[in-house]
Amino acid sequence: MQIDIITLFPEMFEGAFSYSILKRAQTKGHVVIRLHNLRDWSFNKHKTVDDYPYGGGAGMVMMVEPVVRCLEELRSKTTYDEVIYLSPDGEMLNQPLANQLSTRQNLLILCGHYKGIDERIRTHFITREVSIGDYVLSGGEMAAVVLTDTIVRLIPGVLNDETSALSDSYQDNLLSPPVYTRPADFRGLKVPDILLSGNDKEIAKWRYEQSVERTKQRRPGLLSK
Ligand code: SAH
Repeated sequence: MQIDIITLFPEMFEGAFSYSILKRAQTKGHVVIRLHNLRDWSFNKHKTVDDYPYGGGAGMVMMVEPVVRCLEELRSKTTYDEVIYLSPDGEMLNQPLANQLSTRQNLLILCGHYKGIDERIRTHFITREVSIGDYVLSGGEMAAVVLTDTIVRLIPGVLNDETSALSDSYQDNLLSPPVYTRPADFRGLKVPDILLSGNDKEIAKWRYEQSVERTKQRRPGLLSK
């Protein structure tokens, strides 16, 4: 898979993409992540990428020309399955959407900033708009990290134990059961006996029941799906 990210702040991604699973996925060749600084497609020497909103009001708006020039250049070299704009009014990111996007070959992600991007980009050049939640961030960069992480960990081979992504919360519309590790007794706080029993069948049953119970309590809406 290839993920191209257009941003005004490529440095913001450095830490996020250099550790743990995202790093390993790149090293092992499961994903190529390329960062593109939008200012490189500015049309003047001041590297302007934003301007005042027509009609007045607070905040700057990302201009149509640099974004479209950048999109066109990238699209001349790669065919993208989706051109995604991160936006608080987009389709809500959830596990089914992450699963779906993880099966794509090439994704292009555009991070907004300031008041957002000129509407003409959204109408004519974006194929999908994704929100990571009902709140407003200062820019699309954090959202792009979240989206990239949740997609990349689903690519087959990225996680060591392939079943571990499948047993995560939200796959099958169930939340994960509680997990424990050593010691079995921490200051009198005990691990449930069943997990120490060695009885795989009973353990699987207990985990399933815990998942259902937890989902009932915390996300009852999932059970009706
Ligand atoms: N004025 C806009 C918010 C702009 S926030 C509005 O009220 O809708 C600046 C940028 O941050 C956006 O262009 C978008 O790319 C990103 N962003 C903010 N909140 C986000 C969210 N919940 N999900 C995804 N991207 C978000």
